[in-house]
Amino acid sequence: MNTRSSKTFITDFMNYVKSKDPGQPEFHQAVEEVVETLADFLLANPRYLHARILERMVEPERIIQFRVPWADDRGNIQINRGYRIEMNSAIGPYKGGLRFHPTVNQGILKFLAFEQVLKNSLTSLPMGGGKGGSDFDPKNKSDNEVMRFCQSFMSELSRHIGQYTDVPAGDIGVGGREIGFLFGQYKRLRNEFTGVLTGKGIEWGGSLIRPEATGYGTVYFAQEMLKTRGDSFKDKVVAISGSGNVAQFAAEKVIQLGGKVVTMSDSSGSIYDPDGIDADKLAYIMELKNIFRGRIREYAEKYGVQYLDKQRPWSVKCDVALPCATQNEINGDDAKALVANGCFVVTEGANMPSDFDAVHHFLESKILYGPGKAANAGGVAVSGLEMTQNSMRLAWSREEVDTKLHSIMVNIHKMCVDYGKDTDGYTNYVKGANIAGFVKVANSMMAQGLV
Ligand code: NDP
Repeated sequence: MNTRSSKTFITDFMNYVKSKDPGQPEFHQAVEEVVETLADFLLANPRYLHARILERMVEPERIIQFRVPWADDRGNIQINRGYRIEMNSAIGPYKGGLRFHPTVNQGILKFLAFEQVLKNSLTSLPMGGGKGGSDFDPKNKSDNEVMRFCQSFMSELSRHIGQYTDVPAGDIGVGGREIGFLFGQYKRLRNEFTGVLTGKGIEWGGSLIRPEATGYGTVYFAQEMLKTRGDSFKDKVVAISGSGNVAQFAAEKVIQLGGKVVTMSDSSGSIYDPDGIDADKLAYIMELKNIFRGRIREYAEKYGVQYLDKQRPWSVKCDVALPCATQNEINGDDAKALVANGCFVVTEGANMPSDFDAVHHFLESKILYGPGKAANAGGVAVSGLEMTQNSMRLAWSREEVDTKLHSIMVNIHKMCVDYGKDTDGYTNYVKGANIAGFVKVANSMMAQGLV
């Protein structure tokens, strides 16, 4: 198979995707990254091409879009838009988070749902892929407003989901508070107490370690990457972006493993603490963000450290970067700055945080680069374990869940190495994750016929 035919294949396929859905740049980006690394494999395995598996995989099985009307605290009527993308159910019920953020649109949710299909496959658990959410912004809303919104959102969504059909979870803007309101409304409408959502409170069906799972899992994955070079987190300087769920628990695990976390951020800016964010300072950030819903700038004021207004943390010198905020938060220039400053491990807690140029720069520089669909799969993996516990009507201990999470991350890392080793010995984790995730879904789709 020659390079030219693979290049032509990629161009033709991307023209096909773009012509069907122009105006969805994030979706195109996610698909192109996958097609780039799958092209050779597909051309060498033409049975997948004949069955048009890739064309089928980029077409959601179902898209649900709906109106979400609610009343704010002053009695004004607000209207938001709700979505659920049911992308692929070849290996299990649709599974994937809900995102509440003003930037949410169909293209962003399709990129997330597409990634989710491959990610869920990598976990080895029986979960298909989906994603949903709304352009609702929970920032500066009262608890009552958030509750009314969630109740209205679930009033429609409840017709489309269920423990055997589609099991949503949290994502940006959807944490424990929102999952509680959504679950309460589902239970009320359907008169059933089932594991229809994951990320539930521990007293009402949630799994221990679910809040920690994405952040911890990302760090477990990075730990495996470091091991391939005989290294560990001990004394590593670590730059983290974000200060939400994923960032907080990634920071906690890095600190436990002896690394030094020097940055965290939010959508307004970053803090740089060269002495390191220790456990006490992290507890302050958790309280600031989860209870007072404050800004990261307040950390800089409290501890007298530098605040990088409207900046991401990638200009800071570090050994390891863990982007844990949002998509496309590392561009080509950021990637160059990171590598030039000595960063040799980038492990993504967020979904698609590195843009196209950044990914290419990491791969060309031959640093250890772990893409989100593999590295942040710990969240959905523990969601899968939450579903299992709900079905069995029992609850595993913290240690049991953490041990299972750890072994799932080690196994995903191994699959990436198995499928992603280049001839020069370099592990291309992007290729590894995409091929490993694809094969299981593709084979299942072929076995189930044209559905
Ligand atoms: P949270 O809402 O808890 O936190 C998001 C963090 O990212 C906040 O600090 C937020 O800042 C910041 N952020 C959001 N949007 C932007 C933006 N446009 N520019 C800069 N910063 C931004 O979300 P999560 O921690 O749950 O999710 C973070 C990432 O991890 C997302 O990419 C998500 O898809 C991914 N992920 C999450 C999983 C989970 O289990 N929660 C599972 C797998 C992946 P601010 O507060 O100012 O908005």
